[in-house]
Amino acid sequence: MKKLAVLTSGGDSPGMNACIRAVVRSSIYYGIEVIGVKRGYEGLIHKDFEVMDASSVGDIVHKGGTILKTARSKAFMTEEGRNQAIKHLKEEGIEGLIVIGGDGSFKGAAKLSEAGIATIGIPGTIDNDLAYTDYTIGFDTAVNTVLDSISKIRDTSTSHEKATIIEVMGRHCGDIAMYAGVAGGAEAIIIPEKPFSLPSIIEKMEHGRKRGKQHHIIILAEGSSKAEDLRQQLVDATGEDARISVLGFIQRGGDPSAFDRVLASRLGLKAVELLKEGEGKLALGVRQNQLVFEDIHEALSKEKSYDPELDRLAEILSI
Ligand code: ATP
Repeated sequence: MKKLAVLTSGGDSPGMNACIRAVVRSSIYYGIEVIGVKRGYEGLIHKDFEVMDASSVGDIVHKGGTILKTARSKAFMTEEGRNQAIKHLKEEGIEGLIVIGGDGSFKGAAKLSEAGIATIGIPGTIDNDLAYTDYTIGFDTAVNTVLDSISKIRDTSTSHEKATIIEVMGRHCGDIAMYAGVAGGAEAIIIPEKPFSLPSIIEKMEHGRKRGKQHHIIILAEGSSKAEDLRQQLVDATGEDARISVLGFIQRGGDPSAFDRVLASRLGLKAVELLKEGEGKLALGVRQNQLVFEDIHEALSKEKSYDPELDRLAEILSI
């Protein structure tokens, strides 16, 4: 392998920069030329390439976002767009590509691999919605961002003695809600993977009130229901109002946590080493703190489910 390229695609996540840095520095370590592709697959189509060196990734390990920018590319969904991308990669003599992104980006990476460009997918999304890996880059930071908000909301919720519904991101995956809910001591955690019972949430709130509890935090994963709908259901059932806080894009930003920086760095080095060994069409991840990789289609075919142990823990501790 003489030359490889790296891009970030789909939604950005904290830790992508640490991963780009690891890819660039590891490539240089092995004497491989490395190209940064701007704006994900759009950059492949428009040949928006830049040669990276050790200093071009200086001072970014601690920063959120992605210095390569990211995009969702409609053109890359077409065969014509992909052919253009492949032509540009070949013209530049790029033999391997590292794609940092979510499941959609991985589908694109699989198509490039099938067209003869060795491609490795690194999971970069706050959602933690890829079943083949325990963690994705950015998830831990997003959970900590939500936790910070829970602590602040708890103060005001206690002062006003009102329940607050906090809506968090995660698309169809409830991991952000579950982890932040357990760590933040929420009274109820509502995730899309599991139906919820409003009467049991209300019962828990009433029980809590009787034992002197002054606040109620309900964490709602965005894929379950709209916060406004849930609020209305609570008002209809109890006659009491609840507050809503939709956290939104703050969950995508911020300095990456130590966990995300280390994970991103480990995955970046491993991706370069796999390409160097002639591998491709792989999804790279981590299971039980060991780096793992498997065929990208196989990785995508796995269905993500929630952790029943965490769910049980949340139930028991929120009595
Ligand atoms: P996130 O999980 O943060 O949303 P993602 O990688 O899943 O990230 P998507 O918008 O789904 O984000 O995908 C990123 C890009 O990957 C798309 O804009 C598109 O260019 C490409 N892509 C997605 N699906 C396919 C596909 N089936 N074939 C080819 N390319 C695809």
